[in-house]
Amino acid sequence: MRQYFIAGNWKMHKTVPEAQALAQELVKSLKDGPNKYMIAPSFTALDAVSKIVKGTNILLGAQNMSTDEQGAHTGEVSVLQLKDLGVQVVILGHSERRHIYKEDDAMINKKVKLALAHGLEVILCIGELLEEREAGKAEAVCEEQTRKGLEGISAEELKKVTIAYEPVWAIGTGKVATPEDAEAIHAYVRKVIADMYGKEAAENIIIQYGGSMKAENCAGLLAKPDIDGGLIGGAALKADTFTPIALCK
Ligand code: PEP
Repeated sequence: MRQYFIAGNWKMHKTVPEAQALAQELVKSLKDGPNKYMIAPSFTALDAVSKIVKGTNILLGAQNMSTDEQGAHTGEVSVLQLKDLGVQVVILGHSERRHIYKEDDAMINKKVKLALAHGLEVILCIGELLEEREAGKAEAVCEEQTRKGLEGISAEELKKVTIAYEPVWAIGTGKVATPEDAEAIHAYVRKVIADMYGKEAAENIIIQYGGSMKAENCAGLLAKPDIDGGLIGGAALKADTFTPIALCK
């Protein structure tokens, strides 16, 4: 039986005091929660939030990291620096990284390998654009991003990978995929994992849904057999909106 994994991506929001206040509220509200949790503040707030979530049931996540361990990469943050701050999970291949910052599958794969080599957990984001869905290519796009994102990753390493299916047209738009449409892709991606790693790995891998997930729609999505949690953007910015999702059983 897979445990739900509910993760909050705070994106480029919140000053340090605001991030501290939200983290403190979540530590209280999720203390006895039934699921696995992660929050990913901006880089600037990682240190402060790390001190608040340390020793709690909330993992500390980062929203991105460099392809390289160190070196001449102005403006980038390395896996070693993230680990220094107590980061345990890193979100890679988020659609905003793919589409605004033009990260491709090869670059994302390099990051996935580096994060896993340093013992971090990875949330690998995949998802199709609206025009790809309308052209009937949603499964093919998600399959390609999954296969290329995981190229060279062993079955043992896969145990530290979560996949987040995030249809790009549903992110931050208020347009949520129907539970049926989301489930179809989740089941398909699980089949791809079975083909790559075998049945047991496919049964065990957590596949989150992301895209305008809220208290009002999370129960319907999470009731589907292949939807194992959520990667939440907008609704993760307030304890009042994140907590009801996080407590969903
Ligand atoms: C996200 O950015 O990963 C996301 C799912 O955002 P939102 O919940 O705001 O759609």
